[in-house]
Amino acid sequence: MRKQIVAGNWKMNKSLEEGLGLYKAISSQTEASSKEVIVAAPFTHLSSLVALAKGGSVKIAAQNCHHELSGAYTGEVSAAMLSDLGVTYVILGHSERRAYANESNALLSKKVDAALAQNLKVIYCCGETLEERQSKGHFDLITQQITEGLFHLDASVLKNIVLAYEPVWAIGTGQTASSAQAQEMHAHIRKVVATKYGKASADTTCILYGGSCNPTNAKELFSQNDVDGGLIGGASLNAANFTSICKA
Ligand code: PEP
Repeated sequence: MRKQIVAGNWKMNKSLEEGLGLYKAISSQTEASSKEVIVAAPFTHLSSLVALAKGGSVKIAAQNCHHELSGAYTGEVSAAMLSDLGVTYVILGHSERRAYANESNALLSKKVDAALAQNLKVIYCCGETLEERQSKGHFDLITQQITEGLFHLDASVLKNIVLAYEPVWAIGTGQTASSAQAQEMHAHIRKVVATKYGKASADTTCILYGGSCNPTNAKELFSQNDVDGGLIGGASLNAANFTSICKA
């Protein structure tokens, strides 16, 4: 059976004090969760969160890292630095970084390498815009994002990759993909992974859904065959909402 994961992406939200309070509430309410629970926090909060998370079950993630391990890159944070802190996961290829920081699949493939080389696990995001879906280019686009970002990897490291399908038109809009739309794309993604790495590897790869997931729609989305949990933005900022999604 595949692992079920719920990851909260706090984005650029919460003061340190608020973040630690939110973490404590999430951690105490998800202790018995059968799903793996992950919190992706701003860089400035990671050190304190890792210390709090020691011995607990909630894993800590960063929301980005640089593709080089060190050097003259003012303002950047390397995978080595995250690993040094004790962070477990890093989100790469979120659509906000693709859009606002112009991150290409080629750049992301280097970030994936940097993260894996530092023993970080990667949550690799893919997703199409509304225009791409309306012009029926969404399956090819997702195939390309996955192929160019990940398919240089050896099969042996695939276990350290979690995929997240996040249609851009559903992120932060309140407009969720229907469970049928999510299942259709997740099945496509699993097929693409199987074509490259074989069915056995594809069958153990976790594919999360992200895009306006909330306590009301999570259960139906997560009950789809190829949906292995969620990457949660807005609803992860509230402990009650996020823990309710973790229990869905
Ligand atoms: C996200 O940004 O990863 C996300 C899924 O956001 P939201 O849940 O707010 O749509």
